[in-house]
Amino acid sequence: MRKKNREYVKNSKPKLTDRMRPRKSNRDYVMEQQNNKENNDRLPERGRSAATGRSLPGNMEDDDSYSDRIPGEVPRTPRGDLSRVEKIEGMFVPKSGKRLRTNRYMLYTSFLILLLFGGLIFYLARFTTYEAEAIITSPYNKRSSSLAQNVRRGSIKSANDKVLAETGIDDDGEEYRYYPYEDIFAHAVGYANHGKAGVESAYNYELMTSHERLIEQFKQGIRGRKNIGDTVVTTLDTRLQKRAYEALGSRRGAILAIEPKTGKVRAMVSKPDFDPNTLDADWEDINAEENNSCLLNRCVQGLYPPGSTYKILTALEYIEENPGSYQKFTYRCKGEDIVNSVHISCYGGQSHGEEDLSKAFAKSCNTAFVQIGSRLNLNRFINLNRKFLFDSKIDFDLTVKQSRFGLNSRSEKSDIPQTSIGQGNTLMTPMHNALIMCAIANDGVLIKPSMVDRIESADGVEVSRTKVGRGKRLADESDAKILQKLLRTVVTEGTGYAVNTDRYTAAGKTGTAENSGDGDHSWFVGYSNVEDPDLVVCVIVENGGAGSEVAAPIADELFSCYYDNEMYRDYRDRADDSEDAED
Ligand SMILES: [Zn+2]
Repeated sequence: MRKKNREYVKNSKPKLTDRMRPRKSNRDYVMEQQNNKENNDRLPERGRSAATGRSLPGNMEDDDSYSDRIPGEVPRTPRGDLSRVEKIEGMFVPKSGKRLRTNRYMLYTSFLILLLFGGLIFYLARFTTYEAEAIITSPYNKRSSSLAQNVRRGSIKSANDKVLAETGIDDDGEEYRYYPYEDIFAHAVGYANHGKAGVESAYNYELMTSHERLIEQFKQGIRGRKNIGDTVVTTLDTRLQKRAYEALGSRRGAILAIEPKTGKVRAMVSKPDFDPNTLDADWEDINAEENNSCLLNRCVQGLYPPGSTYKILTALEYIEENPGSYQKFTYRCKGEDIVNSVHISCYGGQSHGEEDLSKAFAKSCNTAFVQIGSRLNLNRFINLNRKFLFDSKIDFDLTVKQSRFGLNSRSEKSDIPQTSIGQGNTLMTPMHNALIMCAIANDGVLIKPSMVDRIESADGVEVSRTKVGRGKRLADESDAKILQKLLRTVVTEGTGYAVNTDRYTAAGKTGTAENSGDGDHSWFVGYSNVEDPDLVVCVIVENGGAGSEVAAPIADELFSCYYDNEMYRDYRDRADDSEDAED
């Protein structure tokens, strides 16, 4: 085709046909000469051909529309039509005495072009600076596969330097993603095919961006190899994660372990789970299974009634409203009570007898807490819950489902009893529950959770590091300290006996949450090393039964693992280092 077109260029000697010849107008000859000159100067290459007979369209070689023509025939397209040329030139060339007007046309046109050009530059700059990452990271972006032609996806590592995900090359030279820990990190690390989830999704951009040294990139370019994407170093610890995974066993539920001072997530387990290595083969089965939802990360996406773990906020509100008299609270529990016309009973119908606030909290007495709840100021109670992240967004590497507080300003009095013991319409995620405990362990200050510590280039050079994100104060230090004491008493004298040991000190709250399914959900949320909190653990076992008997012993497994392996020493030193660096 190329050749044919060249021939066409050579052979064609277009003559001006009548159709193409400029019609004589009543303009004077001089003007016409001038017009032709300006015409030749201004019109694009392809416009010139007919007027001058000099050449044909400049980009003809690429133009299929010419391929079928007989050599020598002049194309009857508007490009060769001078009447159109005339019209165009009329826009620019002054008609007798109207120079001013046409100059204004030019001015307007130039201005418009400038404006459009400026807009284009602005859009490109904005796109490359702000939006490129979001667009590349989007799991819906199909073009990110074109990025994969230049970069081999980077690795994901644990805080203790184990590989959690990497890209290998099989015997046929095909890339594949490999997860050495199989199901154990399924939800936290996620997967990178069938859409993306977990760290694979949240850090897709970093994994597909290479910060290898230029010389390395150049060498690989010469060898025709891809650059290697950055390594995402998570805060997760394989020892703690493995212990949590085993402790939950075949039960459904979620476990989180977070350092309250730094917000670093050390373990994140959700069950049922899946093996990301065989996701391709299992995909149909997974989607066929009803009500199993093994892809769901229950730590951040599971909404549960908090049960008695919620009594932490009911107690806090009561302390805030009665700073001088909360210690004088007394109640005699008979195992059941009617408050605001709602019948409430204690767990197993047990009567707890004579109680103050501390004993009612330690024994998790429902009837006492319903009494407390009924004395609260509704609007202040709602505000406290808003402050403590109910009905609001939680900022984290993974999307956290919004928790829901059961009361609003239009609520009936009869709605309050159930809400004050964590039942009713209140629902929350394990992540949210863990963060409330982090804030109390931090003397009332919220911490931003994170599960990625830093990004490194494939050759191990640090690219960026996550800063510790201290949030706002949610409670007065003195009130937080009162809660810490209450939580400690739960362990030493109440339902948290499973974490009452001389191997470590712990404080926390159990929960046994009624729900629409079969059997109560079993909760524990608490922290270890009460004088200087190291680790917050939050456990929920769906339909597991009593929090004291099921969830709390699992928390003990995690605390034990943390101290047996002296992880606290390791991580505390590093946290101190980073704090020093910040100051
Ligand atoms: Zn009771």
